[in-house]
Amino acid sequence: MTGNNDGHYQKQTVLIVDDEPANLQLLSNQLREEYLVLVAKSGQQALHRLETNNIDLVLLDIVMPDMDGYEVIYAIKENPKFKNIPVIFISSRTESEEEIKGLRLGAVDYIGKPFQPAIVQARVRTHMALKRRTELLDKISHVDGLTELDNRRRFDERLEYEWNRARRNGSPLSVIMIDVDFFKRFNDSLGHIAGDNCLRKVARVLESLVQRSTDEVARYGGEEFAIIAPEVDLEGISVLAKRCVTEVNDLHYPHPDSDVSAYVSISVGAATVMNISPEANARELVAAADQQLYQAKQRGRNQSCTILLNS
Ligand code: GH3
Ligand code: MG
Ligand code: MG
Repeated sequence: MTGNNDGHYQKQTVLIVDDEPANLQLLSNQLREEYLVLVAKSGQQALHRLETNNIDLVLLDIVMPDMDGYEVIYAIKENPKFKNIPVIFISSRTESEEEIKGLRLGAVDYIGKPFQPAIVQARVRTHMALKRRTELLDKISHVDGLTELDNRRRFDERLEYEWNRARRNGSPLSVIMIDVDFFKRFNDSLGHIAGDNCLRKVARVLESLVQRSTDEVARYGGEEFAIIAPEVDLEGISVLAKRCVTEVNDLHYPHPDSDVSAYVSISVGAATVMNISPEANARELVAAADQQLYQAKQRGRNQSCTILLNS
């Protein structure tokens, strides 16, 4: 994401790929005021730059020695990390068949050589603006506005992905469901704004507990959170579930009307699945964790329950 918190945008980065130094020079000069400009003199170098930098758009020559522009765009569109990066061809091959081929391979635009630098600049600007909007929409559609954690939609997508991965690899997968205790009473006593602040605080604690980059914490619903922990077994998830309970209560965030603690507390249910069978589905894991959460509530809240799901 190129936007930062105070609403200012960082410069976007354009990668110019051309084996002709004069073209690189001309385009760089035209674009460097608005964008960070990186250049590559070959297809191989272009792919290397993509791996090592955050590129927003690629201007791509077609005729190059070794690896041509078609091969480069193929490699870009094939790689999930790069496939959303817009590519504009700039080529001396101006026949419509070539243009059609380039666009079919996934380019967003096709500019003939000799080019007018100002026209290239205008087209780059259009696609950079579009990219920024797409990223913003993508972020909004996957992030919870109140806590800035992943939202339910993102959780569902990620769970599906991790479920399939765990099934293929025969590795364990764990899920934790979390619900704030007596939260209706918290709101009734202190008001919704205070309630919102409390949810943000709980979100930060959970986030700090989930340190592995593969683990993901999401806001599942109103005062409910969920964690996906790939490759974590029953013992590991049980420890994490207990830590969630302890750390939230240890915040000592006053709760004026809770039957279980002077402070805000959570109840937690966790479930682990090993060796996923082909008929099983990810919702069963969530349902099992939810059932454990219900148990934790029944047993008095401010605690966790964990189960191994036989799939
Ligand atoms: P339990 O211990 O059984 O979980 O009781 P509870 O009161 O937490 O559960 P219940 O489901 O009855 O109430 C959940 C409350 O959470 C209701 C609603 O007022 C509050 N809530 C849900 N989403 C939000 C939110 O976004 N902001 C605030 N402030 N409150 C919310
Ligand atoms: Mg609830
Ligand atoms: Mg609750």
